[in-house]
Amino acid sequence: MGFGAPRTAIEGEVPLPAIRVLPETIANRIAAGEVIERPAAAVKELVENALDAGAKRISVALTDGGIAAIEVIDDGHGIAAADLPLAIARHATSKLPGDDLVRITTLGFRGEALPSIGAAARLALTSRPPGAAHANTIRVEGGRVFPVQPAAGPAGTRVLATDFFFATPARRKFLKHPRTEADHAEAAARRLALAAPAIAFRLVSDGRTLFDLPGQDPLARTAALLGPEVAAALLPVTAERGPLRLTGFAAAASLTRATTAWQFLTVNGRPVADPVLQAGVRVAFRPVIADGRKPIVALHLSLPLELLDVNVHPAKTELRFRDPAAVRALVIGALTRVLGASAAAMPPPRLTLSFSRAPTPRGTPRGPLAGFAEPVLPLLAPPAARPVETSAPDPAHPLGAGVAQVFGTYIIAVTAEDELVLVDQHAAHERLTHETLRAQHLETGVRPQPLLLPAVVDLAPADIARLLAAAPDLERLGLLLEPFGPGAVLVRALPAALGPAEPAPLVRDLADELADIGEGTALAERLDRVLARLACHGSIRAGRRLSQAEMDALLRRMEATPRAATCSHGRPTFLKLSRSDLERLFFRR
Ligand code: ADP
Ligand code: MG
Repeated sequence: MGFGAPRTAIEGEVPLPAIRVLPETIANRIAAGEVIERPAAAVKELVENALDAGAKRISVALTDGGIAAIEVIDDGHGIAAADLPLAIARHATSKLPGDDLVRITTLGFRGEALPSIGAAARLALTSRPPGAAHANTIRVEGGRVFPVQPAAGPAGTRVLATDFFFATPARRKFLKHPRTEADHAEAAARRLALAAPAIAFRLVSDGRTLFDLPGQDPLARTAALLGPEVAAALLPVTAERGPLRLTGFAAAASLTRATTAWQFLTVNGRPVADPVLQAGVRVAFRPVIADGRKPIVALHLSLPLELLDVNVHPAKTELRFRDPAAVRALVIGALTRVLGASAAAMPPPRLTLSFSRAPTPRGTPRGPLAGFAEPVLPLLAPPAARPVETSAPDPAHPLGAGVAQVFGTYIIAVTAEDELVLVDQHAAHERLTHETLRAQHLETGVRPQPLLLPAVVDLAPADIARLLAAAPDLERLGLLLEPFGPGAVLVRALPAALGPAEPAPLVRDLADELADIGEGTALAERLDRVLARLACHGSIRAGRRLSQAEMDALLRRMEATPRAATCSHGRPTFLKLSRSDLERLFFRR
């Protein structure tokens, strides 16, 4: 029994816990965990302070993932010597001059970060407003405040936080390995650097410079932080809806990640992990990427302050929109438009050539092009092959002119820009069929092609029940089914867009899909999945020889069809190799 000093209750025997107001140092240590649960949170708060101070240049240095030390230096407006004790006092802020929680234009406003860091670690805050004769410094260690002292230092502010959670060993135990903490801290810095492209930003971790960027435009900043592979796939996003404005970039659907770590979202310049925005991104990408893959985006929403409440979460990463539906619609609409552009407008997935320059005399080079080390010529489909020089690819055709078909599976084409295009004929055709079915369904319903001989397909009773229950919906999909005794259905028509398809595997696949969708979910809600399933059955199989005319027809249709850069399962339908890529492969440069 009993916490604290035993007390006597009325009868004198039962000890009662005492209630007391905590000393401020203890209260600060407890509260510190609310905002500063790990070094990355301190990095975020300190960089936000630098941005709020109008810095043009911010430098962050981490040691041991920030556990040992975080140093943030800025050239902002600084803090007057007399204000230093206030800066590290709880609920003291310069950012809410009007007691107004609506018109918040700064990243900070709670006045909690510095005292929390001072409670969790050893904090030294050194600052010199431009024009002041010298800098001054104040230290707080585990909540204990030391007097202000004059110090040396340039205009601006330098915050050094060392020895995280030295005063609260219990909390220190929960820190992960320094590598993990470094990942979190670096991600926090990267997010803010992406949110403020105009500010020069440097991040150093254990002596290694991770980035050192000048003030730059949003595209250059996004490309620099997300790396060359993503940079080559970035599509600009801009959209407006009433007072809401969305800008930024999305990577083409052919480039995805396993996690949402590559989704950078800001609202009025503040990095957020907002479920409304995240859901919008998810919904827009769902039709074009594989299940479980996550898109890459850097999106910035701006809206009038009165349409927003940021005071929901202590870390300020969550907020509340007055009109979440409008935000969601803006995001979905903008991304759908960008992703719906035809293959011609899409940056194709480029093969990244990661060969070392060292010659590899024996064996084939490893990497995505390994197969090309074998002689290509004998594999050309004989009549389709024509000399590259004479096929004059028209500049209006970004996917070029078909040159040959190899392995019965891939089309090789050459563009007017001297690029080699490789097309996966099955993946590409599957997307084309999918889009045709989708378009027809939206208009009048998918056009059926009656079978000359209706097909009887044997199925389990549960599958039959599911198919017949969905029959009216399936009819709109160009599929006419009728009951046919206890163990079968009769197929009278298939979607015309599929061409000559086998009824039995198609209907069995569809039965599986319906079982997967489950009872109670309308087919319409999962329409895209069903269309994708159907499209599989109407696609040019890998292994089928294509004539020159068929190859070119496929390329032209890909150029004209939305979402044609990826198949219905999110895999790329084509790859491009530039002449310079080839030259690098052959070590010509
Ligand atoms: P908040 O940012 O919510 O106001 P903080 O505890 O983060 O609370 O900071 C307290 C105050 O210290 C700020 O309001 C600001 O006046 C001052 N301050 C903190 N960091 C800086 C900085 N890098 N440059 C100038 N002033 C700063
Ligand atoms: Mg702050």
